[in-house]
Order: sequence, then C-alpha cells, then structure tokens
Amino acid sequence: MTREARYAWAPITMLFHSVAGGPDKTSVTRSQCSDLIAAAIEWTRGTEGTRPRAVAVTFDDGYYDVLEAAEAIRLQFGLSTTVYVNASLLGKDNRWNPKARERLWHVTATDVQTLCAKGHQVGSHCYRHRSLLPLSTRQRTWELRRGKSALEDAIGHGVRAVAYPYGDYDARILEIAAAIYTTGFGVDAPSPCVPASLLQFCLARYCVVRTDRPESIGCRLGKIFSDHTRSGREPIDTRSAVYGSDKEFF
Ligand SMILES: [Zn+2]
Repeated sequence: MTREARYAWAPITMLFHSVAGGPDKTSVTRSQCSDLIAAAIEWTRGTEGTRPRAVAVTFDDGYYDVLEAAEAIRLQFGLSTTVYVNASLLGKDNRWNPKARERLWHVTATDVQTLCAKGHQVGSHCYRHRSLLPLSTRQRTWELRRGKSALEDAIGHGVRAVAYPYGDYDARILEIAAAIYTTGFGVDAPSPCVPASLLQFCLARYCVVRTDRPESIGCRLGKIFSDHTRSGREPIDTRSAVYGSDKEFF
C-alpha cells in the first residue's frame, strides 16, 4: 500500500459550531452545512486512493441548534457526528464568549443523552471554555480531567475524546491529555516538533466559517490534506475516534 493510500484511512474531519445562521464568523445555516458536507464527500471521491475516503463531522461548543442539525446530517448522509461540549456550560448561554454577536444556548445533559441514543458521539471540550495555554500544569490537568469526569457524571457514560478550546495546545498539554483521553483534536495541522507518540492527541480539523462555499471547499480540503502528506508523518487512523468503529466507508 502506498503512503497516500494509507492516508485514505484518516477521514477529513470538519468542524462546525452553531448552525443557526447567526452573525458570528463560525456560524453557518443548516442548508450551508448540508451543502458543505455534500461537497466534502464529493471531494473525497476524487482521485482514487490518494485522498481520504471519508468525512467526519464534529461540532464544538455544543450549541442547542446543533441537535436538529446533527440528526439531519445522520439521516441525509448516514454520518453520525461528534459534539464536543464543556461540562460547565451544559444548559447555559454563551455569555462566556465576549466576541459572540448573538445569544446562543448550550445543550443540556439530557440533550446530550438524546443525541447519543440516536447514534451520535459526545466528546469533551474541557470543563470551561478557556484556552489551556496560559494556565499552569495543575490548572490544565484540572480542566482536562474535570471536563471528562463532570461530563461523564452528567450523561452517564464514558467520554474518550477531547477537543481543545480554540484549538490551543502545546507539547505539555498533549502529554496531559494523553494520560486522560484516547484522542485529541485541535484545528491546525500539528507542528513538526510534535513527537509521533502524541500525534493522536492533536488531530487537525477543517474549521468551517460562514464565508465557505461548496465550490471552494475542494481547495481548502486539498490544502489541509497536502499539509498532512507534506509533513512526512505516517497517517493516523482516526476512524475509531470519530466514528466509534473501524468500519469501512463509501
Ligand atoms: Zn469552542
């Protein structure tokens, strides 16, 4: 198997936030969300064996509007999604975000349970929505550990993956996360300094913004993919992390 073909096992992971079509930079409409996923799936079907063969869909922050959108995605595309929530924000509004231009509500623990019952996954977005970078080792560990344990207590089952708030991490954060979680997601492609043993804890995602259009998505996905392949790293099989199984797609 060629190196490029092995990359086919690593799904392109899309990152959405609110899908209420609001004024914020990362907010998209439901139809835009659907069109962008369709375009991403179409992109994975090009150039046999040299691109990822699957698309994974994630939502950060756990906004209430994601509930219906996630289920619509599952019904339309047969994709279960993963929603990364902050345990301290369950059932609260987004007043934590001074940059937010509209008031949004976060899902409750019951909403998360309903999503999981429909086949979606939930992950930790740490306890509060704070960048871990300026925090001490003790505070970082607490945010990562409490983000998992409080969420597990609230929803009644285990949580394996983390997505770092703002996609922020450094080498020490990855080491702490590796002792608590099985997988971690950032946004940007990891720096060449990250040791191979920690790559599973800083997986990159394509962060969707409101100006994204289906016709230009191929360019953005192509850039993310070439950043990965150019890095000279072995591909990481994220299927079990993002889908909860190793099944084959498409
Ligand atoms: Zn976030």
